[in-house]
Amino acid sequence: VPAIQAQLLTKEYSNGRGCRDVTITVEKGEAFGFLGPNGAGKSTFVKMLAGLIRPTSGSAALFGHPIGTLAAKSKIGYLPELYRYQEWLSGEEVVRLHARLCNIEKSVADRRIPELLKEVGLGLRGRDRVKHYSKGMQQRLGLACALVNDPELVFLDEPSSALDPIGRMEVRTILERLKQRGITIFLNSHLLEDVEVLCDRMALLNNGEILRHGKVSEILNKR
Ligand code: ADP
Ligand code: ADP
Repeated sequence: VPAIQAQLLTKEYSNGRGCRDVTITVEKGEAFGFLGPNGAGKSTFVKMLAGLIRPTSGSAALFGHPIGTLAAKSKIGYLPELYRYQEWLSGEEVVRLHARLCNIEKSVADRRIPELLKEVGLGLRGRDRVKHYSKGMQQRLGLACALVNDPELVFLDEPSSALDPIGRMEVRTILERLKQRGITIFLNSHLLEDVEVLCDRMALLNNGEILRHGKVSEILNKR
């Protein structure tokens, strides 16, 4: 079964906006780019897949499990756009909080949290308060949180858009490692370069609708 299968997935907010009739398939282990300008509907789509908002119509499944079900949710990690942290906590405490919210056993969390912090390059800064973190560090902390339940699929909503070039490169390196480990990646971005570097296939979204989708190389070379 594919990692993601969405069929005519539609969300219409009360103001008429959202996203319309999105049909895509993402295979296991693939990195899929969802490219489009601000307001295109990328976040809306990902929030539906992550089970955070309900579709108006259409259907979707993750690894064969309908979206919104516990079985689907247990397999995914989600990094929201502009995540706000409890900034009086340390990075380590933030990840621990996420582990608790995911019902992860303490002994498992004790082992996994230091590994995760190391993986996102925060191994030496885990005890520092989040309020002393740069934007790039906060975003990498968000990645650690998204990975805390050892997901097979991660949804990343504009993970590097607010970062400077160095921060962007650091996030990109982490994402490339995740991909090599076989984790399926769904990347929302308005940055062509991020999609180009990481993704195998992509969809181009505008005004809530897919304009085209296919192999990154084919779409970006066509005019
Ligand atoms: P729904 O029709 O799905 O219930 P609503 O239009 O009632 O959605 O809005 C849900 C929430 O999103 C509200 O808290 C609202 O303030 C907020 N919201 C409304 N418009 C926007 C927007 N353009 N972008 C982001 N959030 C919005
Ligand atoms: P993107 O992630 O591509 O920037 P969004 O999914 O956030 O796009 O938004 C798609 C459209 O839906 C935009 O026009 C946005 O203003 C609108 N929108 C997003 N959230 C809400 C909401 N809760 N209520 C009403 N409109 C919304």
